[in-house]
Order: sequence, then C-alpha cells, then structure tokens
Amino acid sequence: MCAIVLNAAGALRPEKERLLSEAFTTDLLIVGAGMAGLLAAADLQEKGGNALLVEKSRGVGGRLATRRIGAAFFDHGAQFITARTPRWQALLSCWQAQGIATVWYRGDEDEHPRWRGLPTMTAIPKQLAQRLNVRLETKLTCLQEATTGWRAVFEQGEPVFARAVLLTAPVPQSLAILHAGQVHIEPSLHAQLEAIEYEPCLAVMALLDRASRLPVPGFLRPQHGNIAWLADNHIKGISPVPAITLHATPLFSRTHWEADRQETGKQLLEEAAPWLGAAVTEFQVHGWRYARPLKEATQPCIILREDPPLLLAGDAFGGARVEGAALSGWAAAEWLAGQLK
Ligand SMILES: Cc1cc2nc3c(=O)[nH]c(=O)nc-3n(C[C@H](O)[C@H](O)[C@H](O)COP(=O)(O)OP(=O)(O)OC[C@H]3O[C@@H](n4cnc5c(N)ncnc54)[C@H](O)[C@@H]3O)c2cc1C
Repeated sequence: MCAIVLNAAGALRPEKERLLSEAFTTDLLIVGAGMAGLLAAADLQEKGGNALLVEKSRGVGGRLATRRIGAAFFDHGAQFITARTPRWQALLSCWQAQGIATVWYRGDEDEHPRWRGLPTMTAIPKQLAQRLNVRLETKLTCLQEATTGWRAVFEQGEPVFARAVLLTAPVPQSLAILHAGQVHIEPSLHAQLEAIEYEPCLAVMALLDRASRLPVPGFLRPQHGNIAWLADNHIKGISPVPAITLHATPLFSRTHWEADRQETGKQLLEEAAPWLGAAVTEFQVHGWRYARPLKEATQPCIILREDPPLLLAGDAFGGARVEGAALSGWAAAEWLAGQLK
C-alpha cells in the first residue's frame, strides 16, 4: 500500500498525473457514507485493507438520518431496522450491547423486532465512522479511468487516485458520475441500471405543543389518504419534547415534488390533525428524492469492471431497507478484499 499526498497547487500537469496514477493516494475509494459504504469500509478494515470514504453531506448515515429542531429530535429517514439474516442480527445484538441500538417495538405482521438507534438513528453510523477514514462535504462529480486505476474528481479540492472504487450513492447519482467521466458500461448492464427507479418521499418534521394522540409505541400507518407513516419521536424515546415525523405516500410525494414545501407541509399536517390532537408550533419539510428502490436487482452488488476494480453497491442491490444496504456493502467488501490482496 502506498500513499501520496497530492500538492495543493491546483491542476496537475499531464506527466505528473501519469506518475501519480501509477502510485495511488488510496487503495480503495468508497463513495457515500450510508450503511452500504460504512459497512464495506469497516469490513475491509477488519480484513486488513484500508479505504478512503467520501461523503457529500455534513454528516454520515445517508438515509439513516436524524434532525434536531430546537429541543426536538426527529428520525426523518429510515424509521426502524429489521434483521432477517444471522450476520446482521448478530451485529444489531452487538450494537445493543454497546448501547447504540435497541428494540423499538415488535412487529405483529412478520415477527421481526423493529430496532432503532440509541439515542437516535444516527448513533449507529456515527459510531461506525469513528474508526474509518471519512472525508465529509466531499462530493464526487466525475470518475475517470486512469492508467492503472481511477481518478476521482470532486466539486472542490484535489483529485484522488485509487486502485479500486466502490460507488454506493443511489444508482441514478452513481450513473451521473460515471457518465461525466465517460466510463464505458456494457450496454445491456447500462440499460438494467438505467431502469432502476426509486420512489420519492416528502418527510415533514413537526414540533407539537403537547403530546400527540398516537398510541404506544408511537406510530401509525394510515390506510387511506396522502400519509404513509406517522411517528411520535417522543413516544419512540428519541425526543425529549413532542415531535412527529410524517412521511407522505410515494404518489403524493411525486405529484407534489415541485410544489411549495411549506404549503405542502401544511396540507399534510392538516390531514394528520385528527391523529395528532395537538397544535403544530414549527415544522420543516425534507425531500428524499431516492427514498427506496422500486425493484431490487438480483445480485447483492454490481462488478462494473474487474480491472481496475469498479463496483456499485447499496440498497438497490441488497434490498430496499437498511439491512439490504448492509448486505450489499458486505458483498462488495468481500469481493474487493480478494482483489486488493
Ligand atoms: C423516508 C425513508 C424511510 C425509510 N424507512 C425505512 C425503514 O423503516 N426501515 C428500513 O430498513 N429502511 C428504510 N428506508 C430505507 C433505508 O434508509 C435505505 O435502504 C438505506 O439506508 C440505504 O443505505 P445506502 O447506503 O444504500 O444508501 P444511502 O443511505 O443513500 O447512502 C448513500 C450516501 O451517498 C452519498 N452520496 C451521494 N452522492 C454522492 C457523491 N456524488 N459524492 C459523495 N457522496 C455521495 C449520500 O449523501 C449518502 O450519504 C427508508 C428510507 C427513507 C428515505
């Protein structure tokens, strides 16, 4: 393994770029610090490899997200975590022992306990990131094939050269990065990737003047109307004050995506009023453009190129839930660990 620090003098001269492309700044560049990227990096680290993880946002976790408004805390992305596979179940139990995960409630339908982060969802990704080499607010805009690896170009800062790259952003975002760098993708695979669609979700986070009427354990799935999910973050145990998360249905989110967010939030909160039984004192709206993939791919991750290695991972491949993202990240890490030895 060899590390080179690029100098900060701006654009690289061609001969220097050629030399640098022979000696990498990192063995593996992982793009996206959601669960797929974090668990791939953690797994590779355990296997003795190292990875540089870049994340465009200010924090880690991706769609495992918590927002604070005043004294209130809101899990506004994934609401709970289920475990259907032994390795993931074991990891959740381990996080429980470490005090960063707990069972929120036990679902009737399929008997999978619903886990949550402790104190909030982001406790899990934050703990994972502590042991990893993560650069926040680093948005990859273009990936280009270099002589013996990949040259990654960011919105700001110097490019990075990597022997291998793992992209874990939602597929349309990863494809945009590959298109920008004119990376060739075999046409039938390209068509498959282009066909991966996601449902959007408008999430409203509202502070209430008193406790909501939602029953313990603090959630509701309305059967009709524009609201898919309502959760009381106070009853859930993450907010010291009454605070609800409302997720609009995919249909409502799609048809109101371009509409004024404050007006849309008001409309949804009016619809929720009978369940809340309390006045809203303040609210914010967040739009998840790529909330969940509509159809899962048949492989847990996609090997776009064996040499130099280029992979895609994330919930579009492993399954449209937190566990799916984890399984996809692990599958990518296993393949990469063999390649990078
Ligand atoms: C509203 C909502 C509710 C949900 N509810 C549940 C639930 O209850 N249970 C459940 O199991 N799952 C749920 N999910 C799905 C679950 O959150 C996802 O399946 C999982 O978190 C996806 O993880 P990931 O690592 O594949 O992707 P992400 O979490 O999206 O991570 C990808 C990361 O890549 C970063 N990124 C993107 N582009 C770039 C770039 N150019 N450069 C650098 N970084 C970049 C992003 O900022 C992001 O952090 C929900 C999702 C949403 C949105």
